[in-house]
Amino acid sequence: MAFGWIDEQAELRRRAGLVRTLRPRPADSPLLDLASNDYLGLARHPETVAGAAAAARAWGGGATGSRLVTGSTELHAELERELAEHCGFESALAFSSGYAANLAAVTALAPHGSLIVSDAGNHASLIDGCRLARGTTQVVAHADPDAVRKALGTHAGPAVAVSDTVFSVDGDAAPLAALAAACRAYGAGLVVDDAHGLGVLGEGGQGAAHAAGLAGADDVVVTVTLSKSLGSQGGAVLGPARVVEHLVNAARTFIFDTGLAPAAAGAALAALRLLRREPQRAARARAVAGELHARLTAAGLEAVRPDAAVVSVRAPSPEAAVRWAADCRSAGLAVGCFRPPSVPDGISRLRLTARADLSGAELERAVRVIGETRP
Ligand code: PMP
Repeated sequence: MAFGWIDEQAELRRRAGLVRTLRPRPADSPLLDLASNDYLGLARHPETVAGAAAAARAWGGGATGSRLVTGSTELHAELERELAEHCGFESALAFSSGYAANLAAVTALAPHGSLIVSDAGNHASLIDGCRLARGTTQVVAHADPDAVRKALGTHAGPAVAVSDTVFSVDGDAAPLAALAAACRAYGAGLVVDDAHGLGVLGEGGQGAAHAAGLAGADDVVVTVTLSKSLGSQGGAVLGPARVVEHLVNAARTFIFDTGLAPAAAGAALAALRLLRREPQRAARARAVAGELHARLTAAGLEAVRPDAAVVSVRAPSPEAAVRWAADCRSAGLAVGCFRPPSVPDGISRLRLTARADLSGAELERAVRVIGETRP
């Protein structure tokens, strides 16, 4: 039977208790949300929503074509200009997702004969970029600039190191300044995925590269998503103008993909302008994460100290993590649950996200529920 093998895989998943299911969320969900990536609480902010609505009215429901044909509007250009300015880079290029932005950056900057040095904890979209690229990938130990140096030292041609800035599972930060120094010692480029840093790190949410003093560097390229702190959908690559021009001409996920939907561009631009007007939102998200970690630790839970807004809590097993998240949900709290195969190290976790708009009372309630449902 066609696709018969998928039934065997499904059975193995069922036996391991690792079946994933979709749970459509009603617009008026009563759950306290510590699961989304809406770090600044802007996804449903009236200005974000108005930005989306105005853009849809002006430009329609979709971009109508790829960016090089009809899919580039003045709104895309405005978003790219303001994103680049906010993060301190010369140019930016918007994509329909952060995933597509990562595929573009890695594939277009790692040609045949090049070396890609990739952190073992990198996000799936960077990993897939490495798989699609013509260059050869060497995976190195997590957050280890010396391992990056060693790998770069073995190669003669063009090279690039790729890393998340804030790792999506444990919320720990990459040693960006040391990574950049390692790359510079070998004339290699550095591509960093700031999906979890934009809007959270840096004094006013300018992101991890800016916070590390790397903004505007001619050997650093930053990818971002518009779907987390900016409460919209889409992604972008930021860097030197010559890199952006190269992506326009060479990146397949830019050239062959329909442009970012105007409503998404409008929402992201409105959220970005709000953040630039109210830069304290970034510090507030970091403070909430710190408070969440302190409360969890005080309750005797094993939580990783957050470098941004992601707070990871260890669970004893994948099954326990699934049950723990379900029990939280029954008690009115939405939390993320990471387990194999999403986490290759076998450690399962609850993944909590701090939001700038969470109150002290909400944090207290969340930690009480997590403590009471602890396996
Ligand atoms: N990089 C990281 C680190 C992420 O966590 C995500 C989203 N899960 C992405 C890239 C992909 O971004 P998008 O959702 O915009 O495709």
